[in-house]
Amino acid sequence: MTTDTSPPAHGAPTNPAPGAPKRRGLGRRLPKGFKFGVAKTKRPSLRLHVLDGLSECPSCGFFQQVPRLQPGQVADCKRCHGQIGRRRTNPPVSTPLAFCLASAVLYFVAITHSLLTFDLYGRTRTVSLLTGPGELWREGWGPVGVLVLLATVVIPPIVIGLMLAILTAASRPKLPRWAPGLMRRYERLRPWSMIEVYMLGVFVAYTKLIDLAHIEVGVAVYALAGLMLTMAATDSTLDVERVWHKRPVARFARRADGTRVIISTVDASEMVLPPARRIVSCTSCGLVCAADYDIPQERVLGNCPRCQAKVRRRKPQGVLRCMLLTGSAVILYIPANLYPVMTIIQVGRGGGHTILAGVRELYEAHMLPLALLVFFASITVPVLKIVGLTMMAWCTWRGSATRLIDRGRLFRIIDAIGRWSMIDVFMISILVAIVHLGRLANISAEPGVFAFASVVVLTIFAADCFDPRLMWDAAGMNGVLLAKNATGPKTTQGGGRQSVLPSATESVGA
Ligand SMILES: [Zn+2]
Ligand SMILES: [Zn+2]
Repeated sequence: MTTDTSPPAHGAPTNPAPGAPKRRGLGRRLPKGFKFGVAKTKRPSLRLHVLDGLSECPSCGFFQQVPRLQPGQVADCKRCHGQIGRRRTNPPVSTPLAFCLASAVLYFVAITHSLLTFDLYGRTRTVSLLTGPGELWREGWGPVGVLVLLATVVIPPIVIGLMLAILTAASRPKLPRWAPGLMRRYERLRPWSMIEVYMLGVFVAYTKLIDLAHIEVGVAVYALAGLMLTMAATDSTLDVERVWHKRPVARFARRADGTRVIISTVDASEMVLPPARRIVSCTSCGLVCAADYDIPQERVLGNCPRCQAKVRRRKPQGVLRCMLLTGSAVILYIPANLYPVMTIIQVGRGGGHTILAGVRELYEAHMLPLALLVFFASITVPVLKIVGLTMMAWCTWRGSATRLIDRGRLFRIIDAIGRWSMIDVFMISILVAIVHLGRLANISAEPGVFAFASVVVLTIFAADCFDPRLMWDAAGMNGVLLAKNATGPKTTQGGGRQSVLPSATESVGA
């Protein structure tokens, strides 16, 4: 029998000698699943600091301290004057919830009742919200029909349902884990619910038809008008920041490579801010985090510790994707204007109508305001979007620093008005659905409508791909600037502009 007297391997526990007194209180119980052997070198834990009180301007990428806003106050970016924050005066949940419930009822009325009734020499035809997309599909313009169906029938109830779920979640003291995902989906889908644009399409179609035949306005039109107002009221009374504040920040998070990260919250006003290349903000909930290392510009860092959205400093390939989509829109814009968008046959006579011809027709019928509206929505807006996005992408590519504030403002306008070009597409879907009386009177869609709808969709996606902060990055304005004595954002209340910040606060460029 031999006794092993060699020293134990490093890290391996030693067995006490027989008869030796038991050690009390010094040893720790081994964790479950512990394997004896050589101890592995422990990797240092990565840390991410949530900078409380710091916000990034979504327009220019300027990080600045924003004080807790009082009801009715608005915080504007100090550098580009874009809006950073806003506090509503109404109760945060009950008011938008009331509007949202009203939206649900009005949508149900709109989808179950008739939109318009067309009466020509005793031959009548009644249409609903579903008739237009169905007729476009039947005529072989399936993608346009699907687009109209999504924007007017499918997405609005989804958006209303999401908002009802979000507000129900927000009525709890703590926002549940599933709510942030719904919030992100709501923000992505909301621009594609186009009830207000559809209403204008109905109005233009009605004025075009009123000289041709007797038109009876259905209950659905009044319901849609109400729905347009209640959906807008839901958005304007929803205090997104107060909803996000109900969601606690997790103590741990995972990076994209799977590494565990420890989260700690620090007050941004009580620390020296790290270099901007180490700060990132969540575009979904606005949480600002600082790392101990440089954060890649376009790669996903990981999930946000508050809302679980993927966090990256900038949208990937923003300029390239914007240029490609805008270029495709330019190519399609030519057939969209050259080819007729619809053919109108009245008592066996008629022919194709281009977009411009439709505007001229309204002008010749002495409907100048309507002609101007259609001209603005169908000609000015697409041109403005194409020229504006091309110019912004080109300037960013070149690294230009001229008129950055104006360019930022133009981007916000383009982003907001892009959907209004759909007026013509909606109007055609209504006319195609309602004027369907053979050789007596018939309106059918033509290739121009497909090209035009594609231009609208492509430019919406192009604006969505473009990250306006890239303009400031390219101009060298978002480097590692540490403006120690820069003043905070401007805040406004009740129309007057007043600063509620101390004169010297720390701000940092992204
Ligand atoms: Zn800004
Ligand atoms: Zn987030």
